[in-house]
Amino acid sequence: MEKTSLNLIKLDTTNEKYLQDIIDDKYFGYPLAPLLTAESRLQDKEQSSVAYFSMEFGLAPSVYHTFKSANPLSPANLLARHEVFSNMKDMDYYHFLPVNKMLDLPIYSGGLGVLAGDTLKSAADLGISLVGVGILWTKGYFKQKFWFRAGGQLPDQLAWDPHSYPGLIPLKPKVKINISGQELTLKLWKYYIYSHDLKQVVPLILLDSNLEENPEYFRDLTDQLYRSTNGWIKICQRAILGMAGVKALEALGYNINKYHLNEGHAAFAFVEKAKTENPEKLKKMFAYTCHTPVEAGHDRFDLQELQHTLGAEATEIIKRFGRDEKHPNQGNLTLLAMSTSEHANAVAQKHGEVTRLQFPNYREKIQSITNGVHTHTWISQSVRDLLNKHKDVLGEWENYPNLLAHVQNLKSDQKFRQDLWQAHHENKKILAKFLESWYFDEQAFTIAWARRLAPYKRPGLLLRDTNRLLDIAKRLGPIQIIIAGKAHPADVPASIHMDEMMEKITMLNGERKSLRICFLENYDTYFAKMLTSSVDVWLNNPLPPFEASGTSGMKAIVNGVLQLSTLDGWVVEAADMKIGKIFGYVPPPGKIGDENDLKMDEDAEALYKSLEELIPLYNKKDPAWIDMMINCLAASSFFNTQRMVAEYREKIWQV
Ligand SMILES: *Cc1c(COP(=O)(O)O)cnc(C)c1O
Repeated sequence: MEKTSLNLIKLDTTNEKYLQDIIDDKYFGYPLAPLLTAESRLQDKEQSSVAYFSMEFGLAPSVYHTFKSANPLSPANLLARHEVFSNMKDMDYYHFLPVNKMLDLPIYSGGLGVLAGDTLKSAADLGISLVGVGILWTKGYFKQKFWFRAGGQLPDQLAWDPHSYPGLIPLKPKVKINISGQELTLKLWKYYIYSHDLKQVVPLILLDSNLEENPEYFRDLTDQLYRSTNGWIKICQRAILGMAGVKALEALGYNINKYHLNEGHAAFAFVEKAKTENPEKLKKMFAYTCHTPVEAGHDRFDLQELQHTLGAEATEIIKRFGRDEKHPNQGNLTLLAMSTSEHANAVAQKHGEVTRLQFPNYREKIQSITNGVHTHTWISQSVRDLLNKHKDVLGEWENYPNLLAHVQNLKSDQKFRQDLWQAHHENKKILAKFLESWYFDEQAFTIAWARRLAPYKRPGLLLRDTNRLLDIAKRLGPIQIIIAGKAHPADVPASIHMDEMMEKITMLNGERKSLRICFLENYDTYFAKMLTSSVDVWLNNPLPPFEASGTSGMKAIVNGVLQLSTLDGWVVEAADMKIGKIFGYVPPPGKIGDENDLKMDEDAEALYKSLEELIPLYNKKDPAWIDMMINCLAASSFFNTQRMVAEYREKIWQV
């Protein structure tokens, strides 16, 4: 291993164990050369580069680009057993899911993090000079344990081992910021994201406060993602991401022209820069993506507490650019990010309209760039193999996912139609095998609802009227339902939804001939890939207009899996593409409405009616069903991060 290469990487070589994995021309089994190119490009003063800040990154390395290490995988980094809470209680007691794989890098909680991860992957695919900035959460988000006696979840701490996680390396430089009058030192880590063809790389820097030289109360600051014990911790976590993040980029010698804030959590990056540079000039270098129309998603902090924690200089800047008009004693990170960024964007067309209503003062600057997913991460092997047999029609779709639109030209190809049904059933077979202890049947109509359990996403809608559901199953054929998702431990309404769902599932015990319901413990990107590629219908039923975009349905369509969705987020843009069935409440134009008025009864009935239409089509293998599967694949030519990142590059970064 050459010294100059190690210098470029800035690896901390005090622990020689890492040198076994970075050897000759390999980095944990992957080619080293593109990594060195990316590093020198970021350090090149002539080159324009982007820094992408995000509180969380979901990289799904257990299902895509898994690094290989010469060191054995620590048991702490193996996925623990997963339980199932079903209406087949006798099975729940004796079985758990047969999972035996590496833990996904646990520095994300849900869709926002997965989007950030997919963004880095597509930036690598497109060869953009970009670096991610995030936090190494030493206890991850949290581990969900089911509470079998009474239903519901018990949040458990996750203990994983960063020191033996394949691909994760400690760096030599450290950075310091001042918190509450004391010095906080941050250790830096690096993780590399390879393009799908392994020819290009994007690095991710992760900050970590768990250092012996820090006092105890500082060491825990980066332990748990979205820990909300008190305001001070939240301010500190945001200062680490934004302020220490800026210092980390400097310490690594990166020449950054655009600071992209994925959500307002990172808004203190501007504050740090504005301490030494002209704020008006700085604005041109900042861009901000706003992700949530839900009020609780916007960070607000007491100005006095900000002053105590971050000092007078920082607080003056926050007051100047992020004072909340409605709450004059608070600094608002959404407003701060909005007013200090030359470009701001919402994450779908509809979300753009809602965001402009919420922030009328910034109407002009708010663009819409619709989210996507990383095609190579989420497409299943069977569908990929099938598409590759049709390169005469689809061309180099793996390099240019927009070419998937041509799949429409295969609609009249009977062999293709048959093969697509077959490819789907290969995936479904994997799921049936996975759940065989719960009598899962590869033939039966299967639907999934899986994502964060947030009230506006209405996790309990499908189970609203279980008698009605049972009646449908008895008349039209058996139904299998898979549910998965975590409720943030402090989100009481979400936990109540979960308790109610489990109570209903319990009441259906004994109905397994018609209705099999499995709630899977500890949803993560591994399950996301398995479920989005294997069920027949992907259910998405947020209360419009509160879903900014949603992305899990995009993972499903790239596998030809139909959507059953309310008209919200990205689905508004796909409404005419015939990718399944749209149902439910539509808000009047120009109104945001009330996120607490969930409209459960009306929309549950609309959902049951939709199921009555869809189930017979599936059970008959109706040609209209296969048409919709093909429409799904065609739609994924647009809803991918390659298109999305290219839009960011053109409209915002201009690098
Ligand atoms: C994709 C993904 C999500 C996002 O789901 P939405 O339906 O967009 O809310 C959440 N969690 C995990 C683990 C995911 O992979």
